[in-house]
Amino acid sequence: MAISQSIIEEIKYKNDIESVVSSYISLKRRGKNLIGLCPFHGEKTPSFTVYPENGSFYCFGCKVGGDVFTFVKLIENLDYIDAVKTLAERAGVAVVESSQDDTLHQLKNTILEINRETARFYYSNLFKPEGKWALDYYLSRGLTPETVKSFGLGVALSGWDTLTKHLRSKGFKFEDMLQADVVSKSSKGTYFDRFRDRTMFPVINVRGNVVAFSGRRRTEDKTIAKYVNTKDTLVYNKSQNLFALNFAKAHCSEQIILVEGNFDTVSLHQHGFKNVVAPLGTAFTKEQAQILSRYTKEVILCFDSDTAGEAAVEKAFKILEPTGLSVKVLKLPVGKDPDEFLKKNKPSDFEKLIAAAIPETEYKLMKAAGNIEPESAEAKIKFLNSAISILASNNDPIAVDLYLAKLAKDYEVSKETLVTKLAQIKKSRAVAEKKREVKNIVEKRIDRNDVNPEKQGNETAAAAEEMIISILLKHPDHIRYITESVATYFVTSLNNRIFGAICEDIKSNQNCSISNLSDRFSDREIGLIIKLLNSEFIGNGPKETLMDCISVLKKEKEMSSNSLESDDWVTQMQKIAENKKGN
Ligand SMILES: [Zn+2]
Repeated sequence: MAISQSIIEEIKYKNDIESVVSSYISLKRRGKNLIGLCPFHGEKTPSFTVYPENGSFYCFGCKVGGDVFTFVKLIENLDYIDAVKTLAERAGVAVVESSQDDTLHQLKNTILEINRETARFYYSNLFKPEGKWALDYYLSRGLTPETVKSFGLGVALSGWDTLTKHLRSKGFKFEDMLQADVVSKSSKGTYFDRFRDRTMFPVINVRGNVVAFSGRRRTEDKTIAKYVNTKDTLVYNKSQNLFALNFAKAHCSEQIILVEGNFDTVSLHQHGFKNVVAPLGTAFTKEQAQILSRYTKEVILCFDSDTAGEAAVEKAFKILEPTGLSVKVLKLPVGKDPDEFLKKNKPSDFEKLIAAAIPETEYKLMKAAGNIEPESAEAKIKFLNSAISILASNNDPIAVDLYLAKLAKDYEVSKETLVTKLAQIKKSRAVAEKKREVKNIVEKRIDRNDVNPEKQGNETAAAAEEMIISILLKHPDHIRYITESVATYFVTSLNNRIFGAICEDIKSNQNCSISNLSDRFSDREIGLIIKLLNSEFIGNGPKETLMDCISVLKKEKEMSSNSLESDDWVTQMQKIAENKKGN
């Protein structure tokens, strides 16, 4: 850990979890805790809980949990150290990093430095004779030199190792360049530029770091890939970043415009539309939808007006649905993309298109009505049925009422009939939803994706292990009842690892802090620890329960060596308690 423990504690103290989480999502009080809709997975009923008492959070849906640092790390998509720094800034605490830095963080920093230097190099190439073609290309497509500069656009030259040599001259190691995915390694072991003879768009994250690149081929030569993008690295996950969000984040609280391509994005920004972002060379993802929901209330889809674009709209509707964001579709004239449109029209014309963007429900109704025969009763019935099914997904009662009135008038049916039909559909959906919920609960009890897969077949031991951990988290002083041998009774390696880390932490700090564990466990493992920290306590006093659990573990161990059938965990606890009474 590069920042001292006392500073970490100070930062934590000054950033109470309730106010930090509330600045991202709305929370409702439930008893001494707060609940809200989880920002990390789509859900309609809140399972995200904040525990102000011990400064932690846990989601019962996706099982993510942690302290205020983990929360900021996940929601801002940062690494742990940057999350600490962000909260330090928020609270006005000065952070001094000690010289002994941890290697992973060091490597991430090196990758970011390599990326920054690479972006600079690609930009500077534009002004060399062999890179001039790319600058000419950008300008010919209507970009100004200022836009090229502010987006850091550049060019990868045609040579095999132009960048590799440049980075070497700056003192970077081949191994680190590979980690940044700006060079590749041949089967003979030589290193060469990953991007060659391409126009280059850097991807900059919300903290202003260059995290990746997207390169477009120079020629129309179909034998080479049109786009080459950075693979996922230690600092980059393509499904969790959006192109130009670093610029858009300050301009998008009301609405954000999602376009398909990087070029469209840059072009729109240049024309004053600063709230535009694009997915990164991939299809739009669930994670990207969740990110959008943290920055805005409304998403306007601005895709090409062709069949591929229409299919992309339908997909985006589905992906955006769990976020609860309002979604509209901007209709471009047939055959145009935003960049082409802006070349032939004024920015005010594009503003008109934004204002005329069609709400999701209306768009779907128009699609459904698309090619019905106005004379055919059968076609009308079919359309009205799908129309009602579309309206059943709209949660705005006023909008629904207006659409119903319009449908009734246009199709000459009584509004009451439509209302009845709508109620039927909603009811059957609610029933289906309930069934799904029950199924989920049942599946959760089996839980094949449990963070601790060794639990299966070792339920009794794992339950005792978890209780021991839970008690130590809540009563660190109870470590005095723990002897060296207890660790050897642990059956599941994850719980053993957690137990070891907690004991170590309590012994050196007299206390156990989640912040101390964050860099040793994955997010889901931290989630488990938080769940245990906040689990309801059952049983006698903590000391008795602790001793009982240790006995259960011992007995399980003995039984597994004698390979006897084991009782379940509650029965064992009861037997042990009864034996004690008998004594
Ligand atoms: Zn969740």
